Amino acid sequence: MFWQKEIETLEMKSLRELQLGRLKKTLAQAGKSPFYSRLFQQNRISPEKIKSLEDAKNLPFTTKEDLRKEFPYGFLTVSREEIVRVHSSSGTTGRATAVFHTQGDLNGWANLVARCMYMTGVRRGDVFQNMVGYGLFTGGLGFQYGAERLGALTIPSGSGNSKRQISLMRDFETTVIHIIPSYALHLRKVFDEVGLNPRKDTKLRIAFIGAEPHSEATRQRIEEMYGIQAFNSYGLSEMNGPGVAFECPQKMGMHFWEDDFLVEVIDPRTEEILPDGQEGELVFTTLNREAMPLIRYRSKDLATIFPEPCPCGRTHRRISRIKGRSDDMFILKGVNIFPLQIDTTLMNIPEVGTNYRVILEREKENFQDRMIVQVEVRPEYFQGDLWQLEKLRKQITEALKSELLVTPKVELVEPDTLPKSEGKAVRVLDHREM
Ligand code: ADP
Ligand code: ZN
Repeated sequence: MFWQKEIETLEMKSLRELQLGRLKKTLAQAGKSPFYSRLFQQNRISPEKIKSLEDAKNLPFTTKEDLRKEFPYGFLTVSREEIVRVHSSSGTTGRATAVFHTQGDLNGWANLVARCMYMTGVRRGDVFQNMVGYGLFTGGLGFQYGAERLGALTIPSGSGNSKRQISLMRDFETTVIHIIPSYALHLRKVFDEVGLNPRKDTKLRIAFIGAEPHSEATRQRIEEMYGIQAFNSYGLSEMNGPGVAFECPQKMGMHFWEDDFLVEVIDPRTEEILPDGQEGELVFTTLNREAMPLIRYRSKDLATIFPEPCPCGRTHRRISRIKGRSDDMFILKGVNIFPLQIDTTLMNIPEVGTNYRVILEREKENFQDRMIVQVEVRPEYFQGDLWQLEKLRKQITEALKSELLVTPKVELVEPDTLPKSEGKAVRVLDHREM
């Protein structure tokens, strides 16, 4: 059941003591970097004075902007000879940042990913196909080393080349995959194209899906399409990458590893710490990192902590599905909208196919904003009569309207007509001039 039973089931009190000890070490280590030594001086912080986890709540935050300003070495606490790997964020939302690792850091990270995989039931003898981008994206190497640590045969297939992915799955009898959810939906169509059914023609039993926000309805579709168990996997480059939080077989939130990360939830506007159960921005402090410890790093990811003990026996708390980044949210006619709301609504409608996109426009004549939602629908709808298509269009419009409180213009399109991405899906295009 457990990869490291003692640590995974450590009672809360001991877990908090462990965190405090590691936090003190982390602060001392962080003080060796140019950035934190300056920050501590300016704010008159002496790490030795931190006596409880409570004291840590007054430490200043670290932001992505700080990482950008200090690029590349301003956060480094060890000499250049001691670092063996750099990962750079894919820069979805701006200039790149760099995170460095010592060999010790990489070992710790691989162990965390192995712990996550083991938790879902992966064992030696499993064949693991890692269908995400390698290179600077952390999902590739992060899972590679984790799976090897666990002892699974690991196929570093990388992203894309769908037909080859399918033949690798069949040749090596893949049982476990790591795949970006939007790509999993797409790949199912490629199975159809080559006349195969993953439920019958593969040995797949488990998928890890993550790297982008996705709804419960999307997970259920993936499970249904492939006849597998799909587990949500969350991580970010600044906290290594994958292995930060992961679902256990209960699938009721993702356990975050409290022996490795101190996690808080704050109100993104007031920066006030929120109690468990309230939704806010996740803030992380590394507890075991050598080369580049980060203190109270603001992730911009929105989630809720579930404090209730999990039936699986792990004491480490859980977070909800990630609702999106605080900067993913867009405002249309004064209404705040998260892409996840659109995903949930669409994926719950069986007639909807596997891809969609959202375009935001400002009308030239009257400066009114509007949202166009282009939705791929199942092929049979384009063979039926127009009346049926129109009925479906109205149904989707109504469903979106009742969820979002604004009325989108819905366009139905044939399967495979919208652009697809091999990495994280880009589904909202904001063409409004600000
Ligand atoms: P970038 O910031 O350039 O996209 P990362 O690879 O570090 O590069 O991306 C991490 C981000 O991806 C997270 O902060 C989060 O917004 C998103 N993410 C990762 N895993 C999940 C997940 N399971 N659900 C929702 N969002 C996720
Ligand atoms: Zn659990």
